[in-house]
Amino acid sequence: NTGYIYIYDEFDCHILDEGFTAKDILDQKINEVSSSDDKDAFYVADLGDILKKHQRWLEALPRVTPFYAVKCKDSRAIVSTLAAIGTGFDCASKTEIQLVQGLGVSPERIIYANPCKPVSQIKYAASSGVQMMTFDSEIELMKVARAHPKAKLVLWIATDDSKAACRLSVKFGATLKASRLLLERAKELNIDVIGMSFHMGSGCTDPETFVQAVSNARCVFDMGTEVGFNTKLKFEEITSVINPALDKYFPSDSGVRIIAEPGRYYVASAFTLAVNIIAKTKNKKQNKTYESNEQTFMYYLKDGVYGSFNYILYDHAHVKALLQKRPKPDEKYYSSSIWGPTCDGLDLIVEHCNLPEMHVGDWMLFENMGAYTVAAASTFNGFQRPNFYYGMSRPMWQLMKQIQSHGFPTEVEDFIFSFFLSFFLSFFLSFFFSFFLFSLSLSLSLSLSLPPSLPPSLPSFFPFFRQGLMM
Ligand SMILES: *Cc1c(COP(=O)(O)O)cnc(C)c1O
Repeated sequence: NTGYIYIYDEFDCHILDEGFTAKDILDQKINEVSSSDDKDAFYVADLGDILKKHQRWLEALPRVTPFYAVKCKDSRAIVSTLAAIGTGFDCASKTEIQLVQGLGVSPERIIYANPCKPVSQIKYAASSGVQMMTFDSEIELMKVARAHPKAKLVLWIATDDSKAACRLSVKFGATLKASRLLLERAKELNIDVIGMSFHMGSGCTDPETFVQAVSNARCVFDMGTEVGFNTKLKFEEITSVINPALDKYFPSDSGVRIIAEPGRYYVASAFTLAVNIIAKTKNKKQNKTYESNEQTFMYYLKDGVYGSFNYILYDHAHVKALLQKRPKPDEKYYSSSIWGPTCDGLDLIVEHCNLPEMHVGDWMLFENMGAYTVAAASTFNGFQRPNFYYGMSRPMWQLMKQIQSHGFPTEVEDFIFSFFLSFFLSFFLSFFFSFFLFSLSLSLSLSLSLPPSLPPSLPSFFPFFRQGLMM
């Protein structure tokens, strides 16, 4: 029954009534195309997941303002949701700045966090009011001095990112020694340096590295003060383990504003990809030990390493396939491999896994696909990028509206309290509504009606899913 699922236009999003989850959108979508030959891959994202991440962030890092790294997943729905709940944005190009500003985000909430910028785009930032930007070299400093003299610069210092999955300090970042020279040079050029930043590399799991980076930041911060800058600090990619380091090196009475640029943290887990099996081959593998021929399968999917799964190469991801149809308890499992659709032997998604026998037309699901997947996908060999469908539960939607109209909650407890309040309110409302609907449908055979708990500002609803933004 699609009747319980509605769309709210501004966010490109289906509002899910009580009892419905993003998984229902997924099953529904698969149902819709079941009789057609054209079964394209698609994503379903739960935008409520992003609100939960935000709540967790506020609890774990109360002193750090998140500036979402747009490159991670740059769809309108994601940016609108984060804009509504008040995060800042880390943009690395003119296009990203345009996207974020186009959705009504003010320039103070944007940091142009790319230390190597084309002059034309520095000028664009200047004309659109974006002042915060990073640098790590003297040449960049001179470019900014000429193209955007009012810029507020953030010095990117290198860190030990040898423990990160994706290193970044191999490409960007000034050493401690170079930092002093850069700060002095900025002073000569009369350019304002407001802080420093570091990037732990993407996917860093070593807490000690964070602590070391915070203490280095303190060191450069003091250099800045010596040189005569009134520095504010900016941090990226930090977790709650560094709170003691923050308190030690930048106690809250130091008046220093701390920001971070989380990307994958906000979006990775919200997205699930559904991909259809377009082809299959059977092989026999010689098994010496048991002197039998083991049956193996190769499956070919509609999306691959040149599409969403590029993150296997670029983001060092490990992929696990789930099945849309639940296997029977006594189902036999076979050694299988999963491939993309292109004519390239490199297009391998999973080299080896054990699966029940699948058929052409079946669906495989891949969870945690929000970060660095479609953001870098190509249409190599003519295979199109997947579509997107966004959903959010009604309590989450109400929570978002509340945050949007009343700003950041002052206390995290308030936030959680209001969250549960709105959740319970909406639970009871939708309970009564379902009851009302149930009796109505009995007497009138009506299955769709407008719920009474909706605010009057909502646009009209459609009982069917509409295609989300195509990337
Ligand atoms: C990509 C990027 C991030 C986000 O990294 P995640 O691992 O997705 O959190 C943050 N800051 C900068 C400058 C980046 O380029």
